[in-house]
Amino acid sequence: MGDGADDAYDRALSELEGSDYCEELVEVQCAYCNRKGLHWQETEHGWRLATPNGKLHECSAYLTAKEK
Ligand SMILES: [Zn+2]
Repeated sequence: MGDGADDAYDRALSELEGSDYCEELVEVQCAYCNRKGLHWQETEHGWRLATPNGKLHECSAYLTAKEK
């Protein structure tokens, strides 16, 4: 792959990030407690589930699953 192809790939990616598609919050459901209406939020620890009011979803079901 030459430099030209890399440039085209980067351009395609930045166009994707600038589109409405990525700004839209996609509702997801917690796989552990089945709570709905959450969305992905990037934190310093990586991507975490968050509630609509912007707080991180603290999942007691997830914590319980980790302890096992
Ligand atoms: Zn949960």
